Amino acid sequence: AKGTLLITGGAGYIGSHTVKQLLQRGEKVVVLDNLVFGHREALPLDRVTLVEGDMGNAALVEKIFAEHQPEAVLHFAAFAFVGESVTDPLKYYRNNLAAPLTLLEAMQRHGVKEFIFSSTCATYGNPQFIPMNETHPQDPVNPYGASKHMLERVLKDCDTAWGLKSVFLRYFNASGCDLEGEIGEDHNPETHLIPRILMAATGELESITVFGTDYPTPDGTCIRDYIHVNDLADAHALALEHLRKGGESVAVNLGTGRGFSVREIISTAERVTGKTIPVTYGPRRAGDPPELVADPAKAKALLGWEARHKEPQAHIESAWKWMTGPRKGRYAATS
Ligand code: UDP
Repeated sequence: AKGTLLITGGAGYIGSHTVKQLLQRGEKVVVLDNLVFGHREALPLDRVTLVEGDMGNAALVEKIFAEHQPEAVLHFAAFAFVGESVTDPLKYYRNNLAAPLTLLEAMQRHGVKEFIFSSTCATYGNPQFIPMNETHPQDPVNPYGASKHMLERVLKDCDTAWGLKSVFLRYFNASGCDLEGEIGEDHNPETHLIPRILMAATGELESITVFGTDYPTPDGTCIRDYIHVNDLADAHALALEHLRKGGESVAVNLGTGRGFSVREIISTAERVTGKTIPVTYGPRRAGDPPELVADPAKAKALLGWEARHKEPQAHIESAWKWMTGPRKGRYAATS
């Protein structure tokens, strides 16, 4: 029988989309989320147990393990603002590296040995080749990427010591929303390209600023591999299957294998929304590599996973549905 899944950060953007998909697959889910960035309304509370609190709280984590005896842990909870990680590194090492140790200690005590980790292409640092596969050297250029890389190392050592099996899912640029428009992306502050473009389309922002037009790319703007959040959710379900079959620890990239420039994303958004989006041009943003594109071959070979939404148009359409839907792209401020 399938056991209970403990999902940290399950009320956040990628976590909540994954919870929705796991419930559709008949999984039983307990979410641990401190709601600093997560939203209570992103979860169907009639079908999910939400424990509000911190994964670094040893007594709380022990209580969850004793009560729910989870089969596996899916670990999404993290801070993810690259710029902030540069100015406040300790906040990132505390939350993304130290706090999960408490969770892992509980797993070891309770003999829970399946872990799915939301890692990132930021663990690679500046690309030495494109597309990037999992053998690309890992030399992160900011504390956010470093905190994720260090936790990968911790997980590897736990495998050696007590047989913890982990899947490191290295996400490229997560984007898009639930196709039904029920849940979506709501960060505060919002820093990501697609939601900011759509905020400029609704007038919530005066304009979208393009960070840098002098990159060595065909149109001078940065190229990214945009991966739909539902495709990420699929990958988590398949990673779980891999571990349930007794699979080994493994790292896999999650991307489409195709890159799009900032200008291409803006013109696609103009097509989708039917609006002229006000654009301004600014300097480069610190820490942005010119191009990040995944080689997703390993995810296909190993997990049978492949992105279904390869065109950013689908991402933007779903995000626009959320932005213009009943919640207007926002959960209630109280959550
Ligand atoms: N970007 C931009 N203007 C914005 C936000 C982002 O030009 O207001 C660019 C950013 O420099 C990067 C790309 O869009 O090249 C994707 O940025 P995002 O913050 O969405 O994701 P990241 O690549 O940082 O994970």
